Amino acid sequence: MAERTWKEIKVRYCKHAGCNVALEAEVIYPADHLPDQPPHVGSHRCSHGGICMRMGEAACIWAGTNPAYDPFQELE
Ligand code: SF4
Repeated sequence: MAERTWKEIKVRYCKHAGCNVALEAEVIYPADHLPDQPPHVGSHRCSHGGICMRMGEAACIWAGTNPAYDPFQELE
């Protein structure tokens, strides 16, 4: 059975959340009987996205509320 885990890609300060948040990617490792298959990257998410949505502060592509704003693409 394939194994799935979330890996941190980059960390940024988000002005909407008021703290550092991480862009994460879902990495899918092949099942044991397919050892030659490389891992695959699935979906992406913001580590703070769930909290942000519940607080009504979501305002970016990762929350699905503003596809024109991606805090992780801003220059540091
Ligand atoms: S979902 Fe978007 S707005 Fe909310 S904390 Fe993450 S980056 Fe910031």
